[in-house]
Amino acid sequence: MKFKPTIGLEIHAELKTKTKMFCGCLNDPDEKIPNKNICPVCLAHPGALPTINKAAVEEVVIVGLALGSEILEHSKFDRKNYFYPDLPKGYQISQYDMPLCKGGKLLLFLSEDPEEGKKSIQITRVHLEEDTARLIHSADKKSALIDFNRAGVPLMELVTEPVMHNGKEARLFAQGLQLLLKRLKVSKADMEKGQMRCEVNISLSKDDKLGTKVEIKNLNSFRAVEKAIDFEIQRQKDLLEKGGQVVQETRGWDAGKEITYSQRLKEEAQDYRYFPEPDLPLLHVHSEKEKAEGSLFNLEELKKKMPETPWQQKEKIKNSYGLSPKEANLFIQDEQLADFFERTVEEFKEIKLKDKAISLAFNYLLSDLKGLMETELIDWDNLKINPHNFSKLIILLLEDRISSRIAKDVLVEVAKKGGDPEEIIKAKGLEQVSDTNELKIIVTEIIKNNSIAVEDYKKGKINVIKFLVGQAMAKTRGTAAPSVLEKLFKEQLG
Ligand SMILES: [Zn+2]
Repeated sequence: MKFKPTIGLEIHAELKTKTKMFCGCLNDPDEKIPNKNICPVCLAHPGALPTINKAAVEEVVIVGLALGSEILEHSKFDRKNYFYPDLPKGYQISQYDMPLCKGGKLLLFLSEDPEEGKKSIQITRVHLEEDTARLIHSADKKSALIDFNRAGVPLMELVTEPVMHNGKEARLFAQGLQLLLKRLKVSKADMEKGQMRCEVNISLSKDDKLGTKVEIKNLNSFRAVEKAIDFEIQRQKDLLEKGGQVVQETRGWDAGKEITYSQRLKEEAQDYRYFPEPDLPLLHVHSEKEKAEGSLFNLEELKKKMPETPWQQKEKIKNSYGLSPKEANLFIQDEQLADFFERTVEEFKEIKLKDKAISLAFNYLLSDLKGLMETELIDWDNLKINPHNFSKLIILLLEDRISSRIAKDVLVEVAKKGGDPEEIIKAKGLEQVSDTNELKIIVTEIIKNNSIAVEDYKKGKINVIKFLVGQAMAKTRGTAAPSVLEKLFKEQLG
């Protein structure tokens, strides 16, 4: 029997605002002292009144604009009622039927598969709500402490349409969204720190009718998102094939055993008894025509402030430098790497072999410089080589003034200590020797001292030439051009 899996995502992200959603307390996720950033509003003391954080609204609107969502002119907050110790009010202020943003889509741009790079996932809505307090359970699980620092932190919730069909698509969506949130500077979106949390809805069906929906929570890595979905698809398939029934429930993910497990039966939406928050006014996000009247939120101004989206940047990098999707992904996932590369390429404007320089720079940046930074634990801030000197090194290599061996050595030196590559190679006499008269003497000497190798070569062991070239390279401390040496050996050996 064929079953078609359908997957939707609900993603929460803590916003990076200075203060909390409905009070003036600091929004500091790094605060170590429990219950430091609290006040009567976020502790729900009777009579304390909330006020809306304008910056948080703007941040969600910016996300909506980047996703091409409709920004609703009128939006409102509602109370979502439920009881849990991490929720002091007994309800969470959220948005129910009038969210800030409706619709929109996100391109699965991080995929390396050219076809999948064209697929986009429809978004249902993006809204704003508040985070809950953090429960710290004791080791014996008999008691718990509550830290209210997180209570009332602005939380963005994004819901997708149920349009994904496997774990990989869901992972690509979550990774793409994380990159977007970081690029828009609205959230740190670190999944391990709980700053971005994914919930998955999965159902299997034989026909067009959607099957019973199962929700998976506690997914705190991209790997967990993909693995949990693929596990759950298989579990439901096995169950249905045996004639069993899928129960509507919430399941957790056991990262150690890589299985999902039943947590509780799912509440229906009406269980939350949503109703409009009476202590907050309707939100009015003004449109262009109302700009003249002096609006609180100005969509046109926000649009102007928007940085380039990661998928726009990927297209730009891919097309202007002729990189593959995989290579372009490396750059958009590391903003500083992309910046270093773009500034290096700027320096190649005037040179003849521009394309060759770009591809050389690309290889030296990704394999040599990045490799060195990883092994020596150098980060972008304490890297001593700048794009100007890096481009100089690439040009020296391109003009055959240094060998690739020397280029690698000089790169290590400049990366660690700084300096001008051209001055270094001059001072150390590392410039490539392509003066054939000088090299001819060395070649003659090597032939004289390696009679066995020479005989082997004459007997037809052509590869011996590599050994002879290596000897000559050592003699010249790597400054000779290997191609020139090879030619000279061939000439002299006949
Ligand atoms: Zn507060």
